[in-house]
Amino acid sequence: MAYDESNIFARILRGEIPCDKVYEDDHALAFKDINPQTPTHILVVPKGPYASFDDFSAQASEAEIAGFVRAAGKIARELGVVAPGYRILANTGPDAHQEVMHFHLHLFAGKDLGRMIKPPEK
Ligand code: AMP
Repeated sequence: MAYDESNIFARILRGEIPCDKVYEDDHALAFKDINPQTPTHILVVPKGPYASFDDFSAQASEAEIAGFVRAAGKIARELGVVAPGYRILANTGPDAHQEVMHFHLHLFAGKDLGRMIKPPEK
């Protein structure tokens, strides 16, 4: 999948549009989802130009992958959601309804999240 530099998260990373930032380091930027699905709903994005988890897992360097995963864990600890629990999710491709073509983790927390993903309402 080719990376499109005009995607919304690339624009946020370049500072062209604002975000409600909760964390930033060399490898990751995290900000509040604009349409939160849970009381805590954070998006964690790598700094590099990766379109999806598939792209990131295949193309990113060991340092980028390690730095990104360390950042995601740190963000959860800083948010205080480790003890109550949280869910990490990465939509990848059409069947997962990935909307923004810059790899991101959703971090959901702040309520009982249930055991599994619900099917869409019919
Ligand atoms: P996905 O379907 O996994 O690609 O999810 C994309 C997510 O990005 C959705 O949950 C949107 O609500 C969120 N989103 C889109 N634009 C913005 C934005 N400008 N700031 C924060 N979150 C956004």
